[in-house]
Amino acid sequence: MGLVDFIMAILPPLYVYRKPKETKRNSFYDLQRWRKLSKRHRREEPLCRECKKRGIITKGTLVDHIVAMNDGGEKWDEDNLQTLCDICHQVKRQGEKQREHRRK
Ligand SMILES: [Zn+2]
Repeated sequence: MGLVDFIMAILPPLYVYRKPKETKRNSFYDLQRWRKLSKRHRREEPLCRECKKRGIITKGTLVDHIVAMNDGGEKWDEDNLQTLCDICHQVKRQGEKQREHRRK
């Protein structure tokens, strides 16, 4: 076991360096059009929607598709967008991944 593997093994997951999920360049999220749209959305809805539902005020960090693109969600429809914080987004992605898994 190399030193890096060893450190990775003992560190709690939060501190582990996260590899970028999108390895492809020019992914959808890099598109100028998306950046503009998400920026505008965050201006209109700066707080995390999921946290707000639970009565917690959290600054949102990203714009999420309510219905994921993989699930046929409309990617340019602002009605399909919501602001989320990192944690809520991760929780949501977990659910989406599990559904993707079940479909296979
Ligand atoms: Zn949140």
